[in-house]
Amino acid sequence: MLLNLPLSRSRLDRAAHLRADSAGLDELWRAAKVISMVGDKFKTTADGLAFIDPVSAPGERYFLGLDRSGTPYFVTHQSAGDIDLQEFQSLRTIGANLNDLEIGAAVHALALTQWHEAHQRCAKCGESTHSTFAGAVRECDKCGASHHPRTDPAIIVLVKDDKDRILLGRQKIWPAKRFSTFAGFVEPGESFESCVIREVEEECGGKVSDMKYLGSQPWPFPASIMIAYEAIITNPDSVKADGEEIEEIIWLTREELHTKTLSGDLLLPPIISVARAMINAWYGPSASDELRGGESWRN
Ligand SMILES: [Zn+2]
Repeated sequence: MLLNLPLSRSRLDRAAHLRADSAGLDELWRAAKVISMVGDKFKTTADGLAFIDPVSAPGERYFLGLDRSGTPYFVTHQSAGDIDLQEFQSLRTIGANLNDLEIGAAVHALALTQWHEAHQRCAKCGESTHSTFAGAVRECDKCGASHHPRTDPAIIVLVKDDKDRILLGRQKIWPAKRFSTFAGFVEPGESFESCVIREVEEECGGKVSDMKYLGSQPWPFPASIMIAYEAIITNPDSVKADGEEIEEIIWLTREELHTKTLSGDLLLPPIISVARAMINAWYGPSASDELRGGESWRN
């Protein structure tokens, strides 16, 4: 069964057929619920996302979709500058507390706005570009080239041995004691499965003999999608950290993981991550009560 991943929830219909109708979009805008973003942060209330009045919404607007009642949702985006960010929070902070509709809209909004902000110039001729199709495309002002939002696939893999232990690794750049599963970007011309085999071999020398697809989750920090697998390796006794990206690895039984997280000797990745979902699913139904791994981010 596939994992139930926290950032893969969504309730909006993207309604792509509406993106080309600019008069129709103006009409939708007047009735819209509008998410307000500055940089990579969202305006929030105590309950979740704040929805602002379209009449006074600042910044570029992008269409996100319709809810079941037909209410349109947009995001407006401004670059961070001198704007007071007191009421704004990042998706990393609020992600675990949003409902299904909000999280789907927020993940889409974050991925889309970060792409727009980073692609103001044409990749073909270097001239300026403008948003079109309600924010689904950018078009060059000079050569007319169309540019589409990019999403960078990365595999993430829970490595196991034949005794059902899991192998976690620690990257040099992470906070002390923070461990997670192995991951890496899919390279051009590479399949997801080949990437799993390559990354496991590169990071710990593990030889993958079997793998299973577990699901996928958008990870818009700034533009990834994580494709999750679990993999069995045949050489659990000879694995070792590559010493470059990964500086330490550790095999864990459920009991060992429980003890180490309880004592604070091992910090787990955050609740909204695929890595945490995979570790919790392997651990079992009591994971949310027993694994207090902390919410440490890499920065
Ligand atoms: Zn151009």
